[in-house]
Amino acid sequence: MAYTAPKLTDYSESTLNEFTADLLKHLEAEAAKVDDEATWKAFRDRWMGRNNSIRVQVKEILLKAAPPAEKPRGGALYNDIESRIKDRVGRAEHSYKNVRPALNEALSSVFPAVTFPRLDITLPGIRRPLGAEHPVIKTMNEIVSVFRNLGYSVEEGPEIETDYYNFEALNFPPNHPARDTQDTLFIANQESKPLRDRLLLRTHTSPVQIRTMEKMRPPIRVVCPGKVHRNDAPDATHSPIFHQVEGLAVDTNITFCDLKGTLDHAMKALFGSSVKTRFYPSYFPFTEPSADVQISCIFCGGTGYRDGSRCPNCKASGWIELLGCGMVDPNVYGFVDYDARKVSGFAFGMGVERIAILKYGVDDIQLFFNGDVRFLEQFG
Ligand SMILES: [Zn+2]
Repeated sequence: MAYTAPKLTDYSESTLNEFTADLLKHLEAEAAKVDDEATWKAFRDRWMGRNNSIRVQVKEILLKAAPPAEKPRGGALYNDIESRIKDRVGRAEHSYKNVRPALNEALSSVFPAVTFPRLDITLPGIRRPLGAEHPVIKTMNEIVSVFRNLGYSVEEGPEIETDYYNFEALNFPPNHPARDTQDTLFIANQESKPLRDRLLLRTHTSPVQIRTMEKMRPPIRVVCPGKVHRNDAPDATHSPIFHQVEGLAVDTNITFCDLKGTLDHAMKALFGSSVKTRFYPSYFPFTEPSADVQISCIFCGGTGYRDGSRCPNCKASGWIELLGCGMVDPNVYGFVDYDARKVSGFAFGMGVERIAILKYGVDDIQLFFNGDVRFLEQFG
């Protein structure tokens, strides 16, 4: 039902405030609907006309019907309301004559003629929230920048790889049991191709090392950041997609000492200068010798105890296992036509989510991937 100014039974300040607010709300709502000369004239006459317009109703209520003692206050309020109505009618006229044609012109350049939606130009604008770097990308960039500062350059490669680059050239011969540890996702319908040409989703970023050595001669110092895929069911610590940063340095006379010094420096740069590292014998087909690297627990300072109880992050051992590394196996050089008698090098690889989980105290890897803005905006 169309608005009419309600009769007043008392003229207290709170009643008058309520009366005014309600009237202005309807004035605004009706002004917003004005979009051409006809609607503007109807709006103007309904609010400002000489006979029974809302202005006339307000005058009746605030001046004529008011008790004598309330007339001065009623008169002042009427003057205020009348000038607001005049002002709004004037702005509605300006809007339909000037603003709306310009807006229509802009809209018709975007939408086909008249399919565009009716717009209420009095509504507040839409604020576009500022984006922030995803914590995984942020961590990946931090790791890369540590190695950039050591003179490493960045190399990238395809996520869909051939068996040759993902396995064979990295010294995983066909049927080697080490292939089973990689939980590989294979692309379907590849059986007619030779094994080395069959496609799969890369299980590590190591193929980029082979691709780099194929196109460059030593000295090489590269880091390879990127997404990798494994056939792992998602849970708090596993995800079928995750990210790695691998590194490769090949030159003459590179030794295990260089590897230890480089990774010790990188871990201190990432987790703080008080962090210690230790290297444990391990196995990877493409490095010999191979090692797992542990850092002293950043939660308990390497003591294994926090606030008098066992540290859950390192299971009271004082150490956290973080990455794998080793000296490049001489067999790998055979695949890229390097002379293993002349060059030596090391490689390392780390999971980006694993490091992000430690740095930010995140307890579920799925939080990185399910796109919940409430989680992500904490890193803004
Ligand atoms: Zn600990």
